[in-house]
Amino acid sequence: MRRVKEPVLEFNSGQMTLILPEAANQDEAVKKHLAWISKVHGNVLYSLQQAEAKTLEKRTQENFRQYVWELAEVYSTELGVDFYKIRFKKLHDKWASCDTGGNLTVNTLLKKLPDELIEFVIFHEVVHRLEMNHGKNFWKLIRQKYPDHKKFDMELFVYWLMVEKIAK
Ligand SMILES: [Zn+2]
Repeated sequence: MRRVKEPVLEFNSGQMTLILPEAANQDEAVKKHLAWISKVHGNVLYSLQQAEAKTLEKRTQENFRQYVWELAEVYSTELGVDFYKIRFKKLHDKWASCDTGGNLTVNTLLKKLPDELIEFVIFHEVVHRLEMNHGKNFWKLIRQKYPDHKKFDMELFVYWLMVEKIAK
């Protein structure tokens, strides 16, 4: 687990992790950040409620692929990087990934999401061409385009839960 100064909320597809600053023991850490934890809990419940009202997009595979290619090209030009190819695959643990060789792998389930979330996911992957890890610099680059990226991460978390359910 990484060390943090402030409590941190991390989303990775269907998984949400709360990271608390180091304390003498776990109970103490929880007690100290109880207000924050219950706020997060409240937000999650609210999001799940919102998820009920969401509908999934009906894009064709071809349409979706073309859109992803266009976005990847626009964002790589914007960030001054390049990428080699995009593979489309049903992934079970993430929306997309980017390897060190500049190959993007995109989850085909992403096609059911609204445009702005597809854009966010592809931008995230293209930023990995500059920063491989989710470190400080990575989030700095994300915030330049998405100052409220946490909202998007949360939305992706909610959609993951929805899409996963129907994919089974
Ligand atoms: Zn990433």
